[in-house]
Amino acid sequence: VTTQPGDGPHVVVLGGGLAGVASALRLGDQGVPVTLVDRNDYHQFQPLLYQVATSQLPAEDIARPHRTIFRAHPTVAVRSAEVTGVDAGTRSVTLGDGDVVAGSHLVIAAGGRAEYFGVPGAAEYAYPLYSVADAERLRLHFRELLDSAGEDQERLDDILDVVVVGGGPTGVEVAGALAELTHALAALGAIPRPGRILLVDRGNVLLGAFSDKSHEYAHQRLVKQGAEIRLRTGVAAVHPDRVELDDGSVIPTRTVVWGGGESAATIVATTGLPSGRGGRVDVRADLTVEGHPGVYAVGDVANIPTDTEPGVLPQLGSVAQQSGRWAADNILRELAGQPPQPFRYKDKGIMAMIGRNAAVAEVGKHRHQVEGPVAFAAWLGVHAMLLSGSHSKTDAFLSWAWDYFDRDHAAVVESSTAPTRIAWGEDEADVPHISVEHRPSPARAGNA
Ligand SMILES: Cc1cc2nc3c(=O)[nH]c(=O)nc-3n(C[C@H](O)[C@H](O)[C@H](O)COP(=O)(O)OP(=O)(O)OC[C@H]3O[C@@H](n4cnc5c(N)ncnc54)[C@H](O)[C@@H]3O)c2cc1C
Repeated sequence: VTTQPGDGPHVVVLGGGLAGVASALRLGDQGVPVTLVDRNDYHQFQPLLYQVATSQLPAEDIARPHRTIFRAHPTVAVRSAEVTGVDAGTRSVTLGDGDVVAGSHLVIAAGGRAEYFGVPGAAEYAYPLYSVADAERLRLHFRELLDSAGEDQERLDDILDVVVVGGGPTGVEVAGALAELTHALAALGAIPRPGRILLVDRGNVLLGAFSDKSHEYAHQRLVKQGAEIRLRTGVAAVHPDRVELDDGSVIPTRTVVWGGGESAATIVATTGLPSGRGGRVDVRADLTVEGHPGVYAVGDVANIPTDTEPGVLPQLGSVAQQSGRWAADNILRELAGQPPQPFRYKDKGIMAMIGRNAAVAEVGKHRHQVEGPVAFAAWLGVHAMLLSGSHSKTDAFLSWAWDYFDRDHAAVVESSTAPTRIAWGEDEADVPHISVEHRPSPARAGNA
């Protein structure tokens, strides 16, 4: 079956993340026919994935069904299907069942994926944190490890240590949360000792994109929370029960969290479009792809040139949301017979949460650095805005987040068995269908 564009406009959006949803909402607001295709029937909010992985939020709270998001946009049709091919010439996508959906315009918003840089064993045994399914897989892996150890203190002792690869925001946030959680569990006597949470990075500092002051802050806070940091060190190989580092040391562990790099979604390789750094689609200033009229690429899947200096914009939620919206505006301009305009990014700053009561942010033109509750307030503002594209009740998120930031260690432990939920107050029918591919725990593999 081929869905033809017909005579009128019809925009095909590949990907329902922050960028794709922002595009489709803007086009739907203007009554333009859109088909949005995503392998999942829900939109996922990546900035809160580590809370799901560390049992502090249920997965459903950060995954919202696309159909709910577009309920008030009758011209936006959603297809839940894997896209297996993209033909930029005909602005069409081929779906897993063989259907072809073609449009007058194509917006590629397929996001990114973990990049393992060919490290042996990493793709097989490390846990990436890119999707809700990834976060669930990591959470279930922990649970499986703990269940398999039961009351056996010796076996418990064997499974508590985690290696986190990558000192960017993902690695720092995961390491902070894990260190806090295992220290609190140990203080309550639930486990014999806190886990050894070792963060490894090839670089000289944590949070490389930030200023020296923030590098120092993140380092001190992580150490204070009980994490161990090893810089100027890479991972040579990952095994089910250990990690080899390139300084020759071997760290016994059954849990490796991979926050070590990102590249474009795999589908990009099939498009034949010009690609550069990270395998991402190179776009022009107006977000179109050179030589392919009507084709746009936005968000994490694209190398978007900055408008102030040479280089490309970082893979950030606000870049994704704004570029998605801008591509839609350019399509609307094209439909009105006007030329597309170059994308102007409104910089919202960079920020990371290192644990409860610990956050760092750099905001404004001169990257003013703030720490602690002020940084957290900045984080909240930006993330409430990112969520507002898919949720109307951002106040529920704000009250959950303040509570999360303030809560003490005992509450952390309590929440690990019964996470405090974000009171979205959804319809029961609005449940996303989250399926997690089973992967035997390395605990089993290692013990087999
Ligand atoms: C762990 C983590 C924490 C982060 N924290 C922050 C933060 O605190 N602040 C911030 O600003 N940014 C943060 N980011 C970055 C931010 O989340 C991303 O920049 C943003 O989500 C990118 O949006 P996107 O729409 O381009 O891609 P995505 O959100 O990745 O969406 C891509 C969509 O395309 C779909 N898709 C891909 N390929 C196919 C296919 N072949 N067929 C069908 N569907 C497909 C996927 O299912 C997905 O829904 C974080 C990222 C991660 C991974």
